[in-house]
Amino acid sequence: MLLADKVCIVTGAASARGIGRATARRFAEEGAKVAILDLDLGAAQAAAADLGHGHLGLSANVADEAAVATAIEAIVAQFGRIDVLVNNAGITQPVKTLEIGRADYDRILDVNLRGTLICSQAVIPHMVAAGGGSIICLSSVSAQRGGGIFGGPHYSAAKAGVLGLGKAMAREFGGKQVRVNSITPGLISTDITAGKLSDAQEQSIIDGIPLARLGVANDVANAAVFLASDLSSYLTGITLDVNGGMLIH
Ligand code: NAD
Repeated sequence: MLLADKVCIVTGAASARGIGRATARRFAEEGAKVAILDLDLGAAQAAAADLGHGHLGLSANVADEAAVATAIEAIVAQFGRIDVLVNNAGITQPVKTLEIGRADYDRILDVNLRGTLICSQAVIPHMVAAGGGSIICLSSVSAQRGGGIFGGPHYSAAKAGVLGLGKAMAREFGGKQVRVNSITPGLISTDITAGKLSDAQEQSIIDGIPLARLGVANDVANAAVFLASDLSSYLTGITLDVNGGMLIH
């Protein structure tokens, strides 16, 4: 098993069809002890119970320093260490540049970008003390090509910020053996995308994807297993495209 006894935190992993849940499931299958952080305590606990025995579900808004600090303390109290953090919690909003209000901008930047910083700040001291760790940040093809399909420009900006933040943290903490890498998914079928495309729209998107299908959550989860595990022990600061060839660059 690739993650035997590693303690892995996945944020935003309560959503039943989401990338975070699939990642938590694959981590558990690989022997990890998984802590799920999401907004609703009951949903986080149910998602953790769904993985089997010995996993933990906690509530925290990733943009709230105090809530994240409390959750991380609880995880360390339970498992004694943190080996992996997946900064997966994210939200989007399909609007155009001139429609972005201040509150929209704050909300999208807070969850996607500030949340990534806050959770990373909370776990890095524990990883450094333990001699290393792996942080995985969920960015998006939207950051690379200036818009995906659903996200507005503020979402592209937040996800591009995640790439820069991840690279800077990789440079800063490489000497402490904390690796930081990002994943840029293309269009993945989850609740973020569910029911928002007509058949014709979906087909026209698929026509632009060399592997000729939309992604599924496990496509991203398997990439996260690789980045979490020692298989990727000489990788840091990378951006791993999981997009079926939608963007080849
Ligand atoms: P999803 O909506 O299925 O799940 C998102 C989860 O994040 C939910 O469980 C939600 O409760 C949680 N969440 C939202 N705000 C939170 C907060 N403030 N604190 C804690 N948890 C919070 O989304 P998904 O499609 O699985 O996306 C997962 C990640 O992948 C996101 O960062 C998203 O931007 C990114 N992504 C998704 C796609 C796609 O096509 N689905 C493409 C590129 C990138």
